[in-house]
Amino acid sequence: MDQISISNRPSLDNFWMPFTANRQFKTAPRLLASAEGMYYRDIDGNKVLDGTAGLWCVNAGHGRRRIADAVARQLQTMDFAPTFQMGHPVAFDFAERLARIAPGGPGAKLDRVFFTGSGSESVDTALKIAIAYQRAIGQGTRTRIIGREKGYHGVGFGGISVGGLVNNRRVFPQIPADHMRHTLDIERNGFSKGLPQHGVELADDLERLVALHGAETIAAVIVEPMSGSAGVILPPKGYLERLRAIADKHGILLIFDEVITGFGRLGTPFATDYFGVVPDLVTTAKGLTNGAIPMGAVFARRKVYDALMAGPESQIELFHGYTYSGHPVASAAGIATLEIYEEEGLLTRAASLTDTWQEALHSLKGLRHVVDIRNLGLVGAIELASRDGAPGARAYDVFVDCFQKGLLIRVTGDTIALSPPLIIESGEIGNIVSILGDALKRAE
Ligand code: PMP
Repeated sequence: MDQISISNRPSLDNFWMPFTANRQFKTAPRLLASAEGMYYRDIDGNKVLDGTAGLWCVNAGHGRRRIADAVARQLQTMDFAPTFQMGHPVAFDFAERLARIAPGGPGAKLDRVFFTGSGSESVDTALKIAIAYQRAIGQGTRTRIIGREKGYHGVGFGGISVGGLVNNRRVFPQIPADHMRHTLDIERNGFSKGLPQHGVELADDLERLVALHGAETIAAVIVEPMSGSAGVILPPKGYLERLRAIADKHGILLIFDEVITGFGRLGTPFATDYFGVVPDLVTTAKGLTNGAIPMGAVFARRKVYDALMAGPESQIELFHGYTYSGHPVASAAGIATLEIYEEEGLLTRAASLTDTWQEALHSLKGLRHVVDIRNLGLVGAIELASRDGAPGARAYDVFVDCFQKGLLIRVTGDTIALSPPLIIESGEIGNIVSILGDALKRAE
């Protein structure tokens, strides 16, 4: 095979890095060169324990041979083929296999699958499907979408409009959307293990927005069942059930953004299964292909699909799609990923680790600066007190310290977020907490 040669120490001037203080990065670059199982290696050969599954995506761990082989085989068989007005068996096969594990219980499975290239594209796709569905059933005035304060739904214009993270919105114009209140109530829920007890009434904020705008203007409400990027905000017990009931009452579709929670993160295939609350649309990406090849997918309930199929037969039912929807190589990677998940029981493995994970994380309670610890499935968050006048700075220092000591964590604001690959063993859970605990003790 022809080898490409990659410089280990390239110039840092040309790649404009996403979500990065580019100038700051150049002063202390962290460059990862290889990855296997639970570990990265940096360009100097140092091992770095992956406490975040890359970016919440490498659920089966790094360097999976089966995925690499599937990708290589598919590239050699057929590198690309369109899925507009034609198709190829790989994408259909992948969709069929996904349908078998699709979110939702018997009779309510979301087994119609629309492929995209990323989480952001999945979100935009779901929003468009929701609006198109409402129009198809004669509810064309329903064009408004409700999101939540602190929601993260990627960076497309749809996603930033329904998302509620101020930094994602500040500079850019948005489509009309409104936001439900979504607070992190440390005072009442601090150091909860698993789901917090207090705050189910936050779901009633949807009623306020319905009263404000009129149900006849609202197509859908989109939430992350467990909000990740805002700093791991867990839904209070009963919250999602109540949201479902309110949405039903007003003819509003419910969309779960499962880009993070999909594919085993909470110990069930989807958060939908964990909570037993069935939405109308589910967005996914990340774990769909174990992060190996970019891909996303939207799962739709049959009633949504069928409503769109009920129009004139000659017409394209949804005027939407991407060049890379159902990309053959990504689909092949996805099929191999699903096989690994199924053979190794990874879609439910987090459930058997929850107790160990929870106890390990909560052992950090009492360390200086730690103001809250949250956990669900194989997700954890340690929230630190803000340093005066410099929000996020303390957590960032801990991130840099951990990286130097061989642990990758993720910081968002003052919160350290953890989401290791689902293949983690208890020894590695111990290592994460030990390196992190030492870094917290050193933090100013
Ligand atoms: N939705 C959620 C809930 C996410 O966490 C993310 C990414 N972290 C996205 C959407 C966007 O995904 P992507 O970066 O693949 O566009």
